[in-house]
Amino acid sequence: MGLLLLLHVLLVTVVATAPTAHAWGKDGHYMVCKIAEGFLTDEASTAVKDLLPGWAGGDLAETCLWADKQRFRYRWSSPLHFADNPGDCKFDYARDCHNTKGEKDMCVVGAVNNYTAALKDSSSPFDPTESLMFLAHFVGDVHQPLHCGNADNLGGNTIKLHWYRRQSNLHKVWDVEVIETAMKDFYNDDRSTMIEAIKLNITEEWSNEEKQWEACRSRAKTCADKYAMESAQLACKAYEGVEQDSTLEDDYFFAALPVVQKRIAQGGVRLAAILNKIFSGNRRLQSS
Ligand SMILES: [Zn+2]
Repeated sequence: MGLLLLLHVLLVTVVATAPTAHAWGKDGHYMVCKIAEGFLTDEASTAVKDLLPGWAGGDLAETCLWADKQRFRYRWSSPLHFADNPGDCKFDYARDCHNTKGEKDMCVVGAVNNYTAALKDSSSPFDPTESLMFLAHFVGDVHQPLHCGNADNLGGNTIKLHWYRRQSNLHKVWDVEVIETAMKDFYNDDRSTMIEAIKLNITEEWSNEEKQWEACRSRAKTCADKYAMESAQLACKAYEGVEQDSTLEDDYFFAALPVVQKRIAQGGVRLAAILNKIFSGNRRLQSS
């Protein structure tokens, strides 16, 4: 292995395990889960509430950042937050869904499928409360375009830039900056107002698309591979015109915001669809 390649691998390993890499920020995850709550059937809502830990106060959205806080306790879970590609704007399960040791299924798509399967199976050895909290988080992550970005720049983490006057990086722009700027500029710094605006879009502007978002023919698995493919294509556009030390301002913000809002909406609708399917008939409750 050449020295440069070795350095590259070391750098990728170090940065990939940094705590700030790869996660919608707290607001993005909260919004995805809050929107999902509104689309749950009564049956699924009851089953979800039964599984939530006491500290959640009966609110799924309160638990949706939990997975990010487990990265040091459960080091193996770190690669489950993303699925980067070699730069071809695609997601290919066989090629891209593995950790740095090459272990299969260790990416965000594998995680969504595996935690869905664990929740469906009452004999699963996984703790169902943890499975639910991982699932709710990872359905959010797979919708963040830069979680399916180019592996060479760690989904934009190594592209340092300015967001208006603040130092940031491209990954963080998509995790938190666009959402924070939107909340400040348009929603009076109030998260629930932004959530209501996105929900209104789902019932009005996107009402024709919403059924397609949740449609999933796969019986055995989820359609998380499709969501990752969408993210990979959106990530390619997100990289356009952005270089090291770029300054991103209004032009970028106004192009990115509708994408971010739609991905949050899709994440919420699809998380609800997955949970509704898992808990239809309340198999877990009946068998326990
Ligand atoms: Zn994450």
